[in-house]
Amino acid sequence: MAALGQTVVGYMDPVFVNMMEELKTLLRYAFQTGNALTFPLSGPGSVGMETCFVNLVEPGDKVVVCRNGVFGGRMIENVQRSGGTAIVVEEEWGHAIDPQKLEDTLKAHPDARLVAFVHAETSTGAQSDAAALCAVARQHGCLTIVDTVTSLGGTPVLVDAWGADAVYSGSQKCLSCTPGLSPVTFSAAAIERVKARRTKVQSWFMDLTLVLDYWGATQRTYHHTAPGNSLYGLHEALRLLAEEGLENTWARHRRHHAALKAGLEALGLSFVVAEAARLPQMNAVRVPEGVDDLTVRRTLLQEHAVEIGAGLGPLAGKVWRFGLMGWSCREDNVMAALAALEQVLPQVGHGVEAGAAVAAAHRAYAAEHLRAAA
Ligand SMILES: *Cc1c(COP(=O)(O)O)cnc(C)c1O
Repeated sequence: MAALGQTVVGYMDPVFVNMMEELKTLLRYAFQTGNALTFPLSGPGSVGMETCFVNLVEPGDKVVVCRNGVFGGRMIENVQRSGGTAIVVEEEWGHAIDPQKLEDTLKAHPDARLVAFVHAETSTGAQSDAAALCAVARQHGCLTIVDTVTSLGGTPVLVDAWGADAVYSGSQKCLSCTPGLSPVTFSAAAIERVKARRTKVQSWFMDLTLVLDYWGATQRTYHHTAPGNSLYGLHEALRLLAEEGLENTWARHRRHHAALKAGLEALGLSFVVAEAARLPQMNAVRVPEGVDDLTVRRTLLQEHAVEIGAGLGPLAGKVWRFGLMGWSCREDNVMAALAALEQVLPQVGHGVEAGAAVAAAHRAYAAEHLRAAA
């Protein structure tokens, strides 16, 4: 917040331009990439998604989209609005995308040019194997678009190791910044694909070849006025991420997830996603039979200042989503949420033993502490 409140300077001011360069370097670290074209787009994660599609999809292109939740559905919309044809690999909500299904689909559609998937499905808390999916795409000559909005800064995002081509994220999830910016990174192959287009990108604002004159060139020219103060905020958020170190950040997310999980299970709540594909930063559990979803969420927020996410799409009213993202991924939040649930659930007819969830979380932390000390 202090970074956001710094003096406003011009978008061409040498001090500002220096900060832009630092931002690119810090983002390369966060994404684990050497990609030259790595920068934050002026817009939320959805702008990152749309930028990848409008630049990489040309009218008539076949694009394989993997869908296992809400955000994969949005990718299909993006392909169609870009004039492409979406071939959909359907996966059950709450499951990781099966690389074999992608392989089979690509064999059936040898003319596909792109593969798109969501690494961390925020609607369910399922994580797909990005390395495996990118490898299958590559074997079939396809470039990849990967959504890492919920994974970046929470769970390993290894752009170069995966060989992903166009990757986007958001500032407000595990990066703990204010909303409104979308970090993106593009491989050399992705840039080549954009430069070889037969048609102009239909969005003027998102056309990468134009944005590059501002973010990419050494001799910068005006494209749009950068949201300076938001960028100060992202710079600080990324600086904090680098200070903690990615490995430590990932371990912190796993540690607090383990405690939250122990507490939620002690309350009789069951996870939507099987353990192997479960994201630590997005914990979706089923609303118990007979319990009113909205009453619980409203009471948690109004009386305990704990906000949890509702179910989306077909999961509306059926699941609760507990985010443990970035700065919010801390012991006091885990304990506050569990203590509040212990009070609220009995009021709506779901009897629980007082103290059970908090005690289970304490035991999980203690076990974690012993493991770390060993
Ligand atoms: C939040 C989210 C988005 C969209 O980001 P906005 O900043 O809300 O536009 C896209 N994909 C996933 C997986 C998300 O969780």
